[in-house]
Amino acid sequence: MIIAIDGEASTGKSTQAKKIAKRLNINYRDSGAYYRAITLFLIQNQINPKEVIGSDIFSKINISQNFENNIFSIFLNDEDVTSKIRGHKVSLNVSEYAKKPEIRKFVYNLLRKSSELNSIIVDGRDIGTVVFPDADFKFFLFAIPEIRAQRRHREINDESIKIESIEKEILIRDDIDSNRDIAPLKKAKDAFGIDVSYLSIEEVFEKILQKIII
Ligand code: C5P
Repeated sequence: MIIAIDGEASTGKSTQAKKIAKRLNINYRDSGAYYRAITLFLIQNQINPKEVIGSDIFSKINISQNFENNIFSIFLNDEDVTSKIRGHKVSLNVSEYAKKPEIRKFVYNLLRKSSELNSIIVDGRDIGTVVFPDADFKFFLFAIPEIRAQRRHREINDESIKIESIEKEILIRDDIDSNRDIAPLKKAKDAFGIDVSYLSIEEVFEKILQKIII
């Protein structure tokens, strides 16, 4: 079984995907975390998003994800980068790197390989449209920007960062993600859309679960 959860930035996709993975006892992959880890590597190695990224560079990138006992971790060349990839610099640059076809192909391979042997739930932007167009279940989460920024602000828990700047970053990312030529952020025709603006985590979870279990 393959379940795709796509949607706008900061709509709680990964929270839901993890809850579903735990409940159904299936694997979980965070596709955004792959793009973030690759972005971190390329920034660290001063590789600009305008450059072509060759196979020699990809051969130096080894990424693995792990979701166990309700804890998600991601390793980049054996370093645990779970918190590093959420930093401001990566968030600000990831969408420019994620536009690149060679990076997308690299991530698609990782995701498709992960689905070969086991049931899986994956969250992202193009999972139901491009990566797994034949997924068994597809969801698309969206919400009004102010609420997404408020939630993200609470999550970051840093008063020195203004809600307005978080909202701006979210909107810039959504804009780049929605308007790129390759695999833009959009709802798959057969995805079940959920406006999460005024729903609690539990309410969204129940809606998703109902669709899968019935
Ligand atoms: O999900 P998250 O917000 O961590 O994703 C970070 C960025 O990675 C997105 O803003 C987008 O640019 C890129 N991404 C993507 N396709 C996906 C998942 C994430 O392009 N399937």
